[in-house]
Amino acid sequence: MKILLMGPPGAGKGTQAENLVQTFSIPHISTGDMFRAAVKEGTELGKQAKACMDSGKLVPDEVTIGIVRERLSKDDCKDGFLLDGFPRTVPQAEALDKILADLDTKLDKVLNIEVPNEDLIARAIGRRICKSCGATYNIKFNPTKVENVCDNCGGELYQRNDDNEETMANRLAVYEDQTKPLIDYYKRAGIYVAIDGRRAIDEVTKNLVEILKG
Ligand code: ADP
Ligand code: AMP
Repeated sequence: MKILLMGPPGAGKGTQAENLVQTFSIPHISTGDMFRAAVKEGTELGKQAKACMDSGKLVPDEVTIGIVRERLSKDDCKDGFLLDGFPRTVPQAEALDKILADLDTKLDKVLNIEVPNEDLIARAIGRRICKSCGATYNIKFNPTKVENVCDNCGGELYQRNDDNEETMANRLAVYEDQTKPLIDYYKRAGIYVAIDGRRAIDEVTKNLVEILKG
């Protein structure tokens, strides 16, 4: 199963990806997670990505395409993968087609989680992530049992630097401008399905699994 999970920032891609990769036993490839790991490690890539991420801009295409090409070439992606947050521009989508053609494969489905902007802002502002295992929570919509303690591993939670109202406004504008055109791109490819992401997390997961198994 080779899946692309699309949607605006805060739509629930990472949350749904956590569930889907378990169901389908495939690796979760999130460019956002890869950039955050590079920032944490203080690598050159991390330094370059940090400035873009903190202001809500996209990391340049050539950098992003390079890390995805490397990741998709690894053995664990042979039988499937879930892409989350990549591609985000038409040149990235074209590059992905080329990478997959070189690997003699293609995407099975593109699932777009649709959520209105006002909900996206509330979701992003309330998002909290476990420092140890990366699990995603929300202080309002998906709280941990004990405040600030991860249900999975007991780790401490943190708030992303870019989950504030100002940066979120930039990220939503970037989405409208650069990422939304991908909807038509994948509609033309005949593999696009839109999902109503306003529902509860479990209901969205159920819907996604139905589509992927159907
Ligand atoms: P994305 O990866 O698309 O940016 P996340 O999966 O990190 O989004 O979700 C953003 C925030 O919204 C998180 O705090 C998450 O707990 C919360 N969230 C995800 N799905 C839902 C949902 N269906 N309803 C309410 N909140 C949700
Ligand atoms: P995300 O975790 O998907 O919300 O991504 C966080 C940030 O990482 C984005 O706002 C961008 O700055 C950067 N980023 C993630 N994926 C990409 C991508 N495909 N292209 C460019 N920048 C990206």
